[in-house]
Amino acid sequence: MSDFSDPDFEDGWTRQPPTDSTMTALSREIETLRAVCRSNKQAYIGAVKDAMAADERAKQAEATLNAVCELHQQYRFAGDDTTDYCAHCNQISGGWIPWPCPTTRLLDQHGQTPA
Ligand SMILES: [Zn+2]
Repeated sequence: MSDFSDPDFEDGWTRQPPTDSTMTALSREIETLRAVCRSNKQAYIGAVKDAMAADERAKQAEATLNAVCELHQQYRFAGDDTTDYCAHCNQISGGWIPWPCPTTRLLDQHGQTPA
């Protein structure tokens, strides 16, 4: 049954069958496109794996920074001394390390102090 509303209908009567060389060229083009698709798929998978690994490293770095910030806490002794100190640095140095301690200042300089 013919479909006369099809604009390609007239061409259907005059179109020649593809030659062997045309079919060979089309087959090669299909194989080339499949190879490009495989290559793009591998690149995409690699990029996704890299992004996931980077995300995991960022989460680990953030957890480490949070742990460091938890260690270095502002502390003030009861009494007349109004100076603030770093509880951790005081503990490990055996001295009086004023707040912010060098570690906290370094984190502040790099915008890493937790809210
Ligand atoms: Zn400290």
